[in-house]
Amino acid sequence: MSADEVRTHTAVHVVKGAVQKVLGAKWTASVYVSERHGRLTVQFDRKPEPEELERVEAEANAKVDEGAEVLEFEMDKEEAEGHFGDSIYDLFPVPASVTRLKIVRIPEWNINCCNERHVESTSQVGRVRLGGGRFRNSKRELEVEFDLVD
Ligand SMILES: [Zn+2]
Repeated sequence: MSADEVRTHTAVHVVKGAVQKVLGAKWTASVYVSERHGRLTVQFDRKPEPEELERVEAEANAKVDEGAEVLEFEMDKEEAEGHFGDSIYDLFPVPASVTRLKIVRIPEWNINCCNERHVESTSQVGRVRLGGGRFRNSKRELEVEFDLVD
C-alpha cells in the first residue's frame, strides 16, 4: 500500500460514516482503493438523490476538517462482538479461524474490524470529492466513488 493508498483507505472509513449517517446504509459489500481513488459499495434499496450525495460529501469533509482521531486497537472477537455487536462487520466475512480482531474506530462516526493501515487523524486524509453514486438495482447496491482532493 502506498502512502496515498493509506490515506485513501482511511477515507473509505470516513466516507462510510457519512453514507451511514446520511443514507442509513449500514452494510458494506466491498471496498476498492487505488492510489487516490476509492470506491465504497453498500447495500441500498434505491438511487439516491443528488442532494443526498452532496450531503455525504459535505459530512465526510466536515469530519476531515474536524481532525478526528483514527483509533486502532485489538480485541478478542467475542469481546468485540459483545461491545460493538455486528456494527464492526461488513458483508464480506471474517474467517472463522480468526479469534482476535483489529478494530478501527473514528469516535462517534464509524467502527469496523479492519486489517489495513490507516493514518492517525482524519485531517491527514484531506478533502474528498465524490464522483457520484451508481445504483445497481439488480444487486441492490450503491457504489460511491471518490477521489482525494489534496
Ligand atoms: Zn481500514
